[in-house]
Amino acid sequence: MTALRAGAGRILIGERLLPQTGDKCRTVGLLGRCAIISDSNVAQLFAACVSKSLVSSGFRPILITIPAGEKSKTLKQAGAICEQMIAAGLDRQSFVVGLGGGMIGDISGFVAAIYHRGIPHVQIPTTLLAMVDSSIGGKTGVDTGDGKNLIGAFHQPSLVIDDLDVLKTLPRREFNQGFAEIIKHAVITDAKMFRTLQSWKVGDATALQTLIKRNIQIKSRIVGRDERDKTGERALLNFGHTVGHAIERAGNYRKFLHGEAVSLGIVAACTISMKKAGLSVDQRDAIVDLLRGFGLPTGLPLKFPRKKIFNAIKFDKKFEGGKVRFVVTPRIGTGRITHDVTLDDIREAVKQL
Ligand code: NAD
Ligand code: ZN
Repeated sequence: MTALRAGAGRILIGERLLPQTGDKCRTVGLLGRCAIISDSNVAQLFAACVSKSLVSSGFRPILITIPAGEKSKTLKQAGAICEQMIAAGLDRQSFVVGLGGGMIGDISGFVAAIYHRGIPHVQIPTTLLAMVDSSIGGKTGVDTGDGKNLIGAFHQPSLVIDDLDVLKTLPRREFNQGFAEIIKHAVITDAKMFRTLQSWKVGDATALQTLIKRNIQIKSRIVGRDERDKTGERALLNFGHTVGHAIERAGNYRKFLHGEAVSLGIVAACTISMKKAGLSVDQRDAIVDLLRGFGLPTGLPLKFPRKKIFNAIKFDKKFEGGKVRFVVTPRIGTGRITHDVTLDDIREAVKQL
């Protein structure tokens, strides 16, 4: 097992950690009652194990299960969870355990941020994307009819438990989408990790653990410089996301998973980087090949309504005040933010997808 620190919290990475949940919560000084918040798929698989471990360490957990899927990430659902916690008598000394992917991480973190004006949050991410991305950085929130994550709070988890064993039940497509964020991290900060990914062997548990650890370090380092997303440093993490978010939205959040849309967004960002930042054709091709190697899409289906992508781009918060903030890569291992990209550049890059 490896332990890392991020902000005030601790991150544990290893195997067979779920049965030690109770112990680990004790170690970080948590006490009393807690709510395990999970979704209908994940609860079936892992809630009993987590609950048993908490009970054997003297905690009194209740389990709150919500339907799996992004459509559960709403203010209404967060309110319903809070009411169940009130009914069960959870108080200011209690804490929340979010057991699931990024959807559960976001809504359970939001509940922890607002319940009694903030109680501790423990995250047990069960998707690769949640381990390397959403569980790091303290962004929590819910969606509204107008867009994703429009309501939320910053609330750093006290403890994150990344148990690699849980990834064994994750469907292949869900597993692969985590690699879109990993490749993003490699392109914007780490050429060595990029090369490691080029010779990646599926099924190597030790390599996977090292990779997860490295990605947590990369994201925590960037977030640590700009915790509240104010100075612009955190915006580096948006590489591939301007177009990616628009594609997700244009596909009504059904056609593509987040990581798949980001993969397409990375390809578009590479086209723009060639034009505006001097990225070489060879490096662009290497990035596209790597995405494809992890089963991620690198081109849009012929009939996909590209017009919907442009309409969606206007909703993006990075286009505030008509100014376009865009992340480009001049070469693998480096990312930077530029204001030099126009909507036409983006349109052109999307056309080529
Ligand atoms: P998800 O939580 O919806 O999980 C995807 C699917 O996999 C679900 O059906 C879930 O039930 C299932 N699942 C999860 N773990 C499983 C396991 N171990 N075995 C079998 N099935 C399992 O989606 P996600 O991709 O993990 O996360 C996406 C969410 O994360 C979005 O809501 C996004 O906004 C959010 N996000 C947040 C941040 C942040 O900084 N807070 C960053 C990136 C993404
Ligand atoms: Zn993302």
